[in-house]
Amino acid sequence: MENLIIIGSGPAGWTAAIYAARASLSPLVIEGALTQENQEKGTLPMGQLATTTEVENFPGFPAGDLSSFISTAIPEDRRIMLNPRDSSPSPVAGPELVELIRTQAVSFGTRVVSDDVVDVDFEHSPFKLISASGSVYETKTVIIATGASAQYLGLPSEQSYKNRGVSACAVCDGALPRYRNKPIAVVGGGDTAVEEAEYLAKYGSKVYLIHRRGQLRASKILADRAMANPKIEILWNRTVAEILGDDLQGVTGVRLDSTVGDKPLSLAVSGVFIAIGHRPNVEFLHGKIALTEAGYIAKPRGFCTETSVPGIFAAGDVADEHYRQAITAAASGCMAALDAERYIAANC
Ligand code: FAD
Ligand code: NAP
Repeated sequence: MENLIIIGSGPAGWTAAIYAARASLSPLVIEGALTQENQEKGTLPMGQLATTTEVENFPGFPAGDLSSFISTAIPEDRRIMLNPRDSSPSPVAGPELVELIRTQAVSFGTRVVSDDVVDVDFEHSPFKLISASGSVYETKTVIIATGASAQYLGLPSEQSYKNRGVSACAVCDGALPRYRNKPIAVVGGGDTAVEEAEYLAKYGSKVYLIHRRGQLRASKILADRAMANPKIEILWNRTVAEILGDDLQGVTGVRLDSTVGDKPLSLAVSGVFIAIGHRPNVEFLHGKIALTEAGYIAKPRGFCTETSVPGIFAAGDVADEHYRQAITAAASGCMAALDAERYIAANC
């Protein structure tokens, strides 16, 4: 029987593990599995930060020569997952940051299982978690930190060309030959879309940023950078009607509608990167925890991490429809570990 199982492997899950391990709870993290299915769903281990480039806004990580720190702090067998770094001053990369937090959790005795939780039994204590590989875990408390994954537009043509020009991860796919020196489209107007556009501008001949409104949702600093980039053209008030392509080449273009009555527009592009937001990863709960209207885990006591089931706590993007930042996920992981520790002291 475990004291605490943490489901999820982003900043929320690993920070919860640091606090719980230091409180001698000997936490077990179920971090997700490296499977094709998770790759397609956008739920590979290490979470959303592992899909991005530079992280400039995590406190304590100014741009600098982090190379010797990274190479001494992260064990060699885990460093092979990271892109090689030179000694020029640069911000911490997303995969490096989440790997550092994981290492910190493991160094305090956190145990890690690479598997997916596919079902839960929260009716009685001890709670039960069932994994994809068929293991059943019994535990006094659970922290759900399963984050969120990319949303798609839902067009049949989008489905047909997934991995053949349709992607939701520029860092994963942007350097592929099919995008080099060719025009690329990015759909969305938030922080992710403008960051993806900036990143893809390094590879493509031109990047069209397609947004359904006349104003970006992205933060000003990121929006200004994208608007100043000569390789990025923003197509305002446009939605994707259809992704064009054929069996041989995959994506060859995109057909756009207008939201303000302008004529439809067709563009030749080699790829379409969908960056229209994220959906909380709650499928494995099968309705056994209350959700908000928007589908996030509901927290009846607002600021605290309790869920609708006493002894089950939630942290990070899976329970946050407002902030969804690495630092807020990490902070709520800390809070969930403290809440779980107090629950065990009072009830178990
Ligand atoms: P996630 O990072 O989403 O991790 C959850 C992980 O849990 C999943 O990926 C999966 O591995 C695992 N999991 C899911 N379901 C299961 C299951 N059933 N069983 C086992 N494991 C499971 N924020 C910033 O502050 N600064 C940035 O610069 C920044 N850049 C970003 C760039 C991009 C492209 C994106 C998409 C997001 C960015 N964010 C940034 C937001 C930030 O990444 C998220 O707020 C943060 O990662 C949320 O952390 P989390 O721990 O809640 O979950
Ligand atoms: P987001 O902020 O929810 O933005 C989603 C964008 O996609 C919006 O512009 C939205 O348009 C558009 N959109 C949604 N559904 C659409 C549809 N069906 N068709 C066309 N467009 C659609 O999501 P995000 O950009 O992924 O960011 C998620 C969170 O991560 C945010 O909190 C963000 O701050 C954080 N993040 C931070 C950083 C950073 O700090 N560097 C980087 C990336 C992400 P509308 O604007 O019209 O609603």
